Amino acid sequence: MQHLETGIGSGRLVIVSAPSGAGKSTMVRALLNAGLGLNFSVSACNRPPRGREVHGREYFFFSTEEFLRMIGEGAFLEWEEVYPGRYYGTLRSEVERLLASGKHVIFDVDVMGGLNIKRQYGARALALFIMPPSPEVLEQRLRKRSTESEQELSVRLGKASEEMARADEFDAMIVNEDLEVAIAEAIHRVSAFLHPIP
Ligand code: ADP
Ligand code: 5GP
Repeated sequence: MQHLETGIGSGRLVIVSAPSGAGKSTMVRALLNAGLGLNFSVSACNRPPRGREVHGREYFFFSTEEFLRMIGEGAFLEWEEVYPGRYYGTLRSEVERLLASGKHVIFDVDVMGGLNIKRQYGARALALFIMPPSPEVLEQRLRKRSTESEQELSVRLGKASEEMARADEFDAMIVNEDLEVAIAEAIHRVSAFLHPIP
């Protein structure tokens, strides 16, 4: 596949992927607040909003019919049925608009989606894999977050070992045991990627 490394504008891509519960949203929030000039790629999905989530901020929330129509229209750079019946996708228009104006974009996407974006953008993208310290800790974190039903929880945990096996396909892996240490490492890596010292 052709790499889009020479697209208009000098914006770069930072991809953060991990099994659900490993801490990627926490990491993405920390990176957005670190003053690195990153802009969040707001994905589309067909699940209902959770807690205080707002349409257009955490996600663009669509019905299943709308989502499937948008797939047909080629609206997505990548999309996945991340869990049975649950669709998530990166909007081509969002990303290209930001990159074309020279902005850096950060993605919170599942493992397959992350690898898919990396494949399309090559060296213009940094793909980070957030690894939980162990499967047991991953389960504890998901249970403590209390955002999924028991059934959703077991689907997410079932998928995790498959996802962890893909970690070495990423540019770097960060073990999220001590949050402060993991955040510091992520900031260091992203800042070296975006602002390399000549
Ligand atoms: P993801 O986006 O990968 O599903 P989250 O960022 O929502 O994961 O993190 C899952 C839960 O674990 C959250 O409640 C978060 O506060 C907590 N968490 C994240 N990193 C750590 C860490 N290093 N130590 C303890 N708890 C953590
Ligand atoms: P949640 O429902 O917990 O917000 O997200 C579920 C999973 O979908 C997470 O692993 C999240 O990273 C992933 N996800 C969110 N947006 C996208 C996207 O645009 N594409 C893909 N492939 N996965 C996404």
